[in-house]
Amino acid sequence: MILHSEQPNFERLADWLKESRYTMVLTGAGMSTESGVPDFRSKNGWWQNIDPRTVAAVAALQENYPLFHEFYSRRIKGLEQVKPHQGHYVLSDWQRRGLIQTLATQNVDGLHQHAGSLDVFELHGSIHSVRCHDCEAPAEKTDFLQGIPCRYCSGPLRPDVVLFGEMLPEDVWNAALAAVSRAELLLVIGTSLQVYPVNQLPALTLGRVAILNAEPTEMDSLFDLAIHGQAGNLLQAIDQVLSM
Ligand code: NAD
Ligand code: ZN
Repeated sequence: MILHSEQPNFERLADWLKESRYTMVLTGAGMSTESGVPDFRSKNGWWQNIDPRTVAAVAALQENYPLFHEFYSRRIKGLEQVKPHQGHYVLSDWQRRGLIQTLATQNVDGLHQHAGSLDVFELHGSIHSVRCHDCEAPAEKTDFLQGIPCRYCSGPLRPDVVLFGEMLPEDVWNAALAAVSRAELLLVIGTSLQVYPVNQLPALTLGRVAILNAEPTEMDSLFDLAIHGQAGNLLQAIDQVLSM
């Protein structure tokens, strides 16, 4: 539900979007929850009461591959029926209209691209591609799901995502740094901003910074504007103000 009292904030953000000549959007897991993809830090119903952050980690891949494999197999299969929500379509529309210049995401689910967004910076990789952990050779998703090892070196297959304990892909990260240094507006959506180094981006922005998130984050004081609510509803409300 959208609170009437938020209307002035929607108007402010809509004005900033129109004024900015270079806008970067940064999304996190909260962007996908309205499509039915669970985030990591909200508490409801994570699988087998395991903290996903301990499984989405290099240590789990190396020390408990069956658990790692089951976790990612479930995530891959769980995404098969998932569709973007209205908020994803608002962002792809804003990009087409020239209101957004760069869309960067921590999500690995591909929902922005599914909604038509182009040139998305996938800062944490994509769960839809698979590679060998040892020799990095690309592999088929079906091989991973069937538990088949790498055809070249017999190493363990894994989704091409950034695990806790790994560096971000250098080219994408450098492109994000370049974009943030140009941004006249950075709009952050649906992230707890607890994952380094992506959580450094708001402080590196010289322009305005705004956040849309279900709950306050520890970094809210860094922002010029923080609006709390569901990303899909908020984006649609701001989109309405833009077209008034
Ligand atoms: P997080 O789980 O740490 O935080 C999500 C934030 O989104 C929370 O603050 C929560 O209050 C907020 N939120 C939840 N639903 C929302 C909604 N409908 N509208 C607005 N806000 C909402 O997620 P994170 O900060 O992105 O970090 C988790 C890491 O795990 C990421 O790096 C990502 O790579 C990975 N991850 C990805 C996916 C995905 O691809 N969909 C899902 C889970 C985790
Ligand atoms: Zn290999």
